[in-house]
Amino acid sequence: MSVKPEDIFNFSEISDACVKCGKCIPVCTIHNVNPDEVTSPRGFIDLLGAYHKGKLELDKNAKDIFESCFLCTNCVDVCPKALPTDMIIEQVRSDIAKKFGIAWYKKAFFLLLRHRWLNDLAFKLGWTFQTCGFKIKAEIDSMNSRLNLPMIKTDRLLPSLRKTSFLNSHEENINNGGKRKVAIFIGCLGNYNYVDIGNGLLEILKALEIDAFLAKDQKCCSAPAYFTGDFDTVDANAKHNIKYFESFGDDIEAIIVPEATCSAMLKIDYEHYFHDQPEWYERAKKIKSKIFMATEWLQHHTHLEHLLASKKKDVKIVTYHDPCHARKMQGIYQEPRNLVRQNYKIVEMSDPNACCGFGGITMQTEKYHFAKAAGVPKAAMIENTGADIVTAECSACRMQINNSMSNAGVQTVFKNPIELIAEALRK
Ligand code: SF4
Ligand code: SF4
Repeated sequence: MSVKPEDIFNFSEISDACVKCGKCIPVCTIHNVNPDEVTSPRGFIDLLGAYHKGKLELDKNAKDIFESCFLCTNCVDVCPKALPTDMIIEQVRSDIAKKFGIAWYKKAFFLLLRHRWLNDLAFKLGWTFQTCGFKIKAEIDSMNSRLNLPMIKTDRLLPSLRKTSFLNSHEENINNGGKRKVAIFIGCLGNYNYVDIGNGLLEILKALEIDAFLAKDQKCCSAPAYFTGDFDTVDANAKHNIKYFESFGDDIEAIIVPEATCSAMLKIDYEHYFHDQPEWYERAKKIKSKIFMATEWLQHHTHLEHLLASKKKDVKIVTYHDPCHARKMQGIYQEPRNLVRQNYKIVEMSDPNACCGFGGITMQTEKYHFAKAAGVPKAAMIENTGADIVTAECSACRMQINNSMSNAGVQTVFKNPIELIAEALRK
């Protein structure tokens, strides 16, 4: 397959290249919970080829089908032709959004993602009133709705909000000796919900004597909007972030991201998105050399592994879930394990690479029944390890896995590897 930017979304060429071998079917997350040929990678590819050739109308049925993909990239991983099913589905969702519009609640959410001040205000209000509508489970940064609402049922575990966001809790520049410096891209869930990830990252950088720049003008990477087809939000946020990163890129060694989805969006999907905007495509390509997942950079560019080896062992057993956006998209799976195993015993689950079933905002709302079903095997395999803690460098996986474990009555606690490493350093 050609990988020239202008060619990557040639649906007909991709469709013609599919040899219908079926290798992608057993690993397909949606096909496993909805076993129908149209909701399989080769089914999606066939339909997208027909749509491109004008033989398939983008009607409500087609919309429903194309919105059923989890974008997990399992199929790309096993396809002998490496056909980019996830990418062409992301692309057609823009046509779906243009034709059918975007639901009001998604539009409202994406509006928040475009304006940090509005997001800060909304989350502050949310924190103030969350106890009225939700039962808080502070020990796992989660909450359940008190009422059964159309899209939020009482058995649905959601991330709870913190009083002050991570970015608003610290100075923008943190001096740890002035010898080395990195910027932090924290992600929205890490900023407003799971704030101990960022706090832990600051503790790690302090122990390593590396200055931290919190890059407070960062905007949402826009992954939720990209997966939903709201390309106006992607365009605005991606251009803002690229310009912003360029403005301080020469002053730092790296932009480290303790979130697989944000990192993959900034590093890989920005390039895909800008395939037809040559200037921005080049700028996205250039800035990506500075972007790393946090464990990736800490493992390869610091002595953290040795420092951890000098610390006490913890008796807790940990199992690592591989986020699709870390292992399959960025090849990151050894680094978090290498760091965590210095202080904890790791017991692998039967299939750490299986998608957790998060799937994006549409899957978490209108198609929640699919997300719920896809989460069942992951909760079971975590329980079977007997681990005290399940870890993954991704807060979208955390939200989904916490909910799946809650539904299945699994008591394992979820933590980001950065939190585990920070805890080990304290001992
Ligand atoms: S693995 Fe690739 S070539 Fe084989 S059916 Fe699936 S998409 Fe087509
Ligand atoms: S990205 Fe995942 S859910 Fe979508 S077609 Fe591929 S394997 Fe199936």
